[in-house]
Amino acid sequence: MRSEGRRAPDVDVRVLDPKVPADTVDGYLDTLAHVVPAITDFFNPAAPTRIRLVVDPGYTDGPAAAGGGVITVSAAYARTHPRDLDVVTHEVTHLVQAYSAGTYADRWHWVEGVADYARYRFGRGNAAAGWSIARYERGSALTDGYRATARFLAWAVAAGGDGIVQDLDAALRNGSYSDTFWVARTGDDVAALWSRYVRDSADGWRPVR
Ligand SMILES: [Zn+2]
Repeated sequence: MRSEGRRAPDVDVRVLDPKVPADTVDGYLDTLAHVVPAITDFFNPAAPTRIRLVVDPGYTDGPAAAGGGVITVSAAYARTHPRDLDVVTHEVTHLVQAYSAGTYADRWHWVEGVADYARYRFGRGNAAAGWSIARYERGSALTDGYRATARFLAWAVAAGGDGIVQDLDAALRNGSYSDTFWVARTGDDVAALWSRYVRDSADGWRPVR
């Protein structure tokens, strides 16, 4: 059973760089308070909601990362992108996904596509941060992950696949996912769906928000 929950997260925050604006850190916390109940309800109500948030000047591999109940945001990223609060929406989705290490490695584009789909669907400040999946990037591929894959997922839902992202997430978590998922779920293989998606995008299809 989904829902019933709406559990507020219990967030322990450490800011290891005093130059990160307090408004940005408050914004991360406010964002998590709103999106964690929604994202756990949507994907995985059993996901733990105790989260450690670290804004770390020592993390330099990208904007942010998540694992083991910890979200790490690069302090340099926080300082240069103070309005990108939904960076934590993407990252907390990885904690909720709770996939096996093998799934993270082998299904990378779905892992990142689902996280950006969650950001698209539940993010609260995407427009303010200039983040969107509205535009189709010509030449993009399903295996690009992130926004490219998230945009395809939004199309699959709009094309009649209500619940398909939750089912995809569940299959990734329980280890049953293979590309036959798409045939079973839609009657078409994923390559045919992607072709339809590209055609529809060329014809002007856009996600609702
Ligand atoms: Zn990610």
